[in-house]
Amino acid sequence: MTTFNKSFTQQEAIPEAGIERAVEVMRSGRLHRYNSAAGEPTETELLEKEFADYQGSRYCLACASGGYALHVAMRAVGVKAGDKILCNAFTLAPVPGAIHNAGGLPVFVETTDDFTIDLDDLERKAAADDVHYLLLSHMRGHLADMDRLMAICDRHDVIVIEDCAHTMGASWNGKKSGSFGRVGCFSTQTYKHMNSGEGGFLTTDDDEVMARAIIYSGSYMLYERHLAAPPKETFARIRFETPNYSGRMDNLRAAILRPQLADLDTQCRRWNDLYRVTEAGLKQIPCLRLPERPEAEQFVASSIQFSLPNQSEADIHRFIERCEARGVPLKWFGDADPKGYTSRFDSWQYLGEPPSLPQTERVLATMCDMRLPLTFDEADCRLIVRIIAEVCDELFLSAAPGERTN
Ligand SMILES: *Cc1c(COP(=O)(O)O)cnc(C)c1O
Repeated sequence: MTTFNKSFTQQEAIPEAGIERAVEVMRSGRLHRYNSAAGEPTETELLEKEFADYQGSRYCLACASGGYALHVAMRAVGVKAGDKILCNAFTLAPVPGAIHNAGGLPVFVETTDDFTIDLDDLERKAAADDVHYLLLSHMRGHLADMDRLMAICDRHDVIVIEDCAHTMGASWNGKKSGSFGRVGCFSTQTYKHMNSGEGGFLTTDDDEVMARAIIYSGSYMLYERHLAAPPKETFARIRFETPNYSGRMDNLRAAILRPQLADLDTQCRRWNDLYRVTEAGLKQIPCLRLPERPEAEQFVASSIQFSLPNQSEADIHRFIERCEARGVPLKWFGDADPKGYTSRFDSWQYLGEPPSLPQTERVLATMCDMRLPLTFDEADCRLIVRIIAEVCDELFLSAAPGERTN
């Protein structure tokens, strides 16, 4: 029996240039983002400028985590206690957590069979008079039709914040994910597209939103030391009205991120090469369904999702167990007991009674997820596909011998 022996959670090393620069930062002792020698820009200031340029946004704030960026983004666009926030029903725990932290009340929007936010349900829910915000998660890197989504939100005066934790480097029709809404939020936590252990970015073109975000992040009135920030007049009033919610990035993290940003597009291409090999193989397996991905969606696939639409819960259980036994650990969003993460809206009981979301429940019930770390090569992906195909054959006997070509 063939098994797969590599780890799905093994990341690549930090680029040598980042390690060297990080060592220099440590030798200097100047780790705090505002602790610079003789007016030299710090690593954090430079990183913000470089990430704003990469995104094509006017402003960028580097901060402590992606979840922190989401929380501060909501505060900065004006979310007040008790405000309703539209949000994908299929997302990761830090998203409803950030809404809760900002005092908002999530209003979950249904999920399509292609794993994106359901725009018909969004249209219905955005039409309510007391709904003014959407926290949009491009969950697992799947982009909804952003032209239609923005048209819906503009029509109903809904401010969009994009959670780009899985779409750093991705675009819709050539426009970067994160540049559609009022604010884009990113994570540089280890399992995302750049790795500083923990970290995040918030980008926007809006002067006031960025001024508030900078003060929230804990700038101690040193906001003039930002290279990707609005003019200092913008801060005149805001600086006395905005609390300090300490959540800065430090120069050590910035030092390891800057060379990764320079390599980001190359890394994105490598992820997509792994994805294409895996996707082509999984598409040959009759009992699996892969999502339709429109040409306008220039995704970065650091993970792959598929569903087993015709299998029972018990069968999917067996499928997951056998894949795991052969070294292919899959995540299954239908599992009644969340393992290692939560992405099901009914796991967030602090929000009260879970709402009725039959379509999302149906989609998540048969949906599986697998990481594609860059420590894998294409041969690894082919072996993984073979194992999944064999398990499907054993369990579901979906094809007669000789019918299969892969
Ligand atoms: C990881 C993640 C976040 C939060 O990022 P952290 O940096 O871990 O706080 C937000 N949304 C999604 C969808 C994520 O996967």
